[in-house]
Amino acid sequence: NEEKSLNFIEEIIESDIQSGKHDGRVLTRFPPEPNGYLHIGHAKSICLNFGLGLKYNGKTNLRFDDTNPVTEDTEYVESIKQDIQWLGFQWAEELYTSDYFETLYGYAVELIKKGLAYVDDSTAEEIAAAKGTPTEPGVPTPYRSRSIEENLTLFEEMRNGKYNDGEKVLRAKIDLASPNMHLRDPLLYRIKHAHHHRTGDKWCIYPMYDFAHGQSDSIEKITHSICTLEFIPHRPLYDWCIDKLEIFPSKQYEFARLNMTYTVMSKRKLLQLVNEGFVESWDDPRMPTISGLRRRGYTPASIRNFCDRIGVQKRENMIDMSLLEFCIREDLNQTAWRRMAVLDPIKLVITNYPEGQVEELIGENNPEVEGGEGTRVIPFSKELWIERDDFMEDAPKKFFRLGPGLSVRLKHGYIVTCHDFVKDEHGQVTEVHCTYVPNSKSGEDTSGLKVKGTIHWVSVAHAKEAEVRQYDRLFHDENPAAAEDFKASINNDSLQIIEKAYVEPDLIHAVPGKGYQFIRLGYFTLDTKSTPEHVVFNRTVTLKDSWAK
Ligand code: ATP
Ligand code: MG
Ligand code: MG
Repeated sequence: NEEKSLNFIEEIIESDIQSGKHDGRVLTRFPPEPNGYLHIGHAKSICLNFGLGLKYNGKTNLRFDDTNPVTEDTEYVESIKQDIQWLGFQWAEELYTSDYFETLYGYAVELIKKGLAYVDDSTAEEIAAAKGTPTEPGVPTPYRSRSIEENLTLFEEMRNGKYNDGEKVLRAKIDLASPNMHLRDPLLYRIKHAHHHRTGDKWCIYPMYDFAHGQSDSIEKITHSICTLEFIPHRPLYDWCIDKLEIFPSKQYEFARLNMTYTVMSKRKLLQLVNEGFVESWDDPRMPTISGLRRRGYTPASIRNFCDRIGVQKRENMIDMSLLEFCIREDLNQTAWRRMAVLDPIKLVITNYPEGQVEELIGENNPEVEGGEGTRVIPFSKELWIERDDFMEDAPKKFFRLGPGLSVRLKHGYIVTCHDFVKDEHGQVTEVHCTYVPNSKSGEDTSGLKVKGTIHWVSVAHAKEAEVRQYDRLFHDENPAAAEDFKASINNDSLQIIEKAYVEPDLIHAVPGKGYQFIRLGYFTLDTKSTPEHVVFNRTVTLKDSWAK
């Protein structure tokens, strides 16, 4: 969009290009830690990083930030790649921080040789205590004055597995009085005897985020390293390492992470929801994960559009989940094929329609586009399923649906008038009896009759059974993460299952990810675990915003 004003990162990049910095080259990266599935917050970062690469004729790397062997897994690597591609982006190179372990080790040795790093034997508690407070300077531990030779030996021994977890760490030697706590001799390496998903048991020391990230950026010659606001205080350390190592000067820029109402957005919390059974899996359609949204029926375009609309800010904010719902509704209104389904069925019998007769009515797939994207056949017969709430025994004046003496049009079909109904022993209506007007067929109506309401229906003899799952928000609280226990406000009614709904027969052709508007009901897609024997549809979103205040 040409008229859209630049966000602050685009302004920086354009000025860098103009000044000829890095010869005008733009290389960004998306650096997920493979310790969980991607969520909608990551989508914001993906759209930003890949979007900049595309916009400025540059590239974007996918770098797995895999420096923490304990929580990382290949399953996550695969899901992350799938999600990025599904969103419509392609990385230039697939890279792993673990591929740089040897180089990073060399960098650490270099810092030691420059007298800029030392091995500390203090415990984590001792180090924390000696760091001081924001108002009080820290004090050196007894190990700060170790000689370069001793540090080199000890660091090599650390690598060779001579020490147990936590026995020693490598720290940068910077400034124990710095007002920035991150500069008070931050940890660079820790000992962790753990199996790594890629390097196996080769390493028992692992670089800390602050030592790995900037150097990895530099190794790849990333020009603009974009991360979220909480890394602002880390930036001086990012620059310090690059400066002292005299390596390629990547630069870090920070933007506000995406926060969204009625959900949580941290992999740790999402993992808890899965592990503790609050949801079925990472791709449960109630999850804010990319895979959950995909299974729910969100399209890549709707998510990209959402990220575009929320923009890129320098200040934390909270985005209303209705905006995401608005984006998918807007997309599906244009793209979803229209179909009929009855979720809470009662039978409608057309008493003057010939027994055994079947008509093939024709319905357009998508009235929103020219040509309608083709048509499908809808069988019509004497007995139809209609929604229970489309009939009222004592209908009020403005009820433009069925009740004794009332007429409606059956979508794509005829006008019918109700003359009777049947109740069971509990007083529940089980059948509605109507007559139809033979010359009132949609498209060739010569009856001259006018009715106000149109209702959807499915022919009893031709209907397919389906389970329909309707989702609500996962949390009652607008900001569950702000509570002491985020799980306290879980919505126990976030999944409503309709075990036996009836859908029109053409829906046997439905595939997961293809959106359907069930007329008057909402947007739906076939669940990824649906089978021909047990058909399952997920409601993506309602037709209208039922949450609007
Ligand atoms: P989480 O806290 O959910 O585990 P993370 O930041 O630890 O997220 P990473 O895998 O490290 O997850 O994230 C990869 C990239 O995605 C990082 O650059 C990070 O800044 C970005 N990112 C993560 N969460 C969000 C968010 N809510 N909004 C925008 N960007 C995000
Ligand atoms: Mg992270
Ligand atoms: Mg995290």
